[in-house]
Amino acid sequence: MRQLIAGNWKMHGKLADIAAYAAALLQAPGHVDLAICPPFPLLDRFAGALNGGAVALGAQDCHAQPQGAHTGDVSAAMLKEAGAVYVILGHSERRENHGETNAVVCAKTATALAAGLTPIVCVGETLAEREAGAAEDVVRTQLRHSLPHDFSGVIAYEPVWAIGTGKTPTEADVAAMHGAIRAALVAQLGAGGAGIKILYGGSVKPGNAASLLALPEVGGALVGGASLKADDFLAIAAGARGV
Ligand code: PEP
Repeated sequence: MRQLIAGNWKMHGKLADIAAYAAALLQAPGHVDLAICPPFPLLDRFAGALNGGAVALGAQDCHAQPQGAHTGDVSAAMLKEAGAVYVILGHSERRENHGETNAVVCAKTATALAAGLTPIVCVGETLAEREAGAAEDVVRTQLRHSLPHDFSGVIAYEPVWAIGTGKTPTEADVAAMHGAIRAALVAQLGAGGAGIKILYGGSVKPGNAASLLALPEVGGALVGGASLKADDFLAIAAGARGV
């Protein structure tokens, strides 16, 4: 399975940054899939700069309803029309800052799938949950309630305490969690669960990417801060496993 390196720009970036960044990404190595998920107002310009090439575009959220009176929100169909292929859903910053429950994430995921987008559904435990020995149970519960029964797409395992902190779990903990997620996906979705990519996210940097990406069941990375500089993002992509 080809690995996917997806960049999450969060609420960063300017229109003026896009041309040079996209041109650099289009020089990326061919053994890995790349996607970049900028804020909504940058999507259309990014789509033009990426020009249908090998780097895919993604968004960072969508509404659970296909349309309607939802001031300030964006629909999955709008993202699709703007050129997005992926949409990140259930990121811990949205779960925490916007009160998104598993049920909301599940509804958004179903809507994104219906619009033809590939959801990247984020799950992960807090530090307190890990220290209590509950990490795998927490993640299994998130998967059970955040994924519609016909889910297809990508999962991102992102321990909340590793996001933007420079801390990462041990390689053994990442491998164990990815194995637990794979088992849960197969139990939940049947044979289809075996083919779902499971990304690791949380302080992935050029210096730790290759060792994280070499772990079993790690199907790629979701990269926040280090995706803002094309050189760092490309260095992470260079660490991806060959097919
Ligand atoms: C993220 O927010 O999805 C993320 C992984 O952030 P960072 O790489 O900055 O930890």
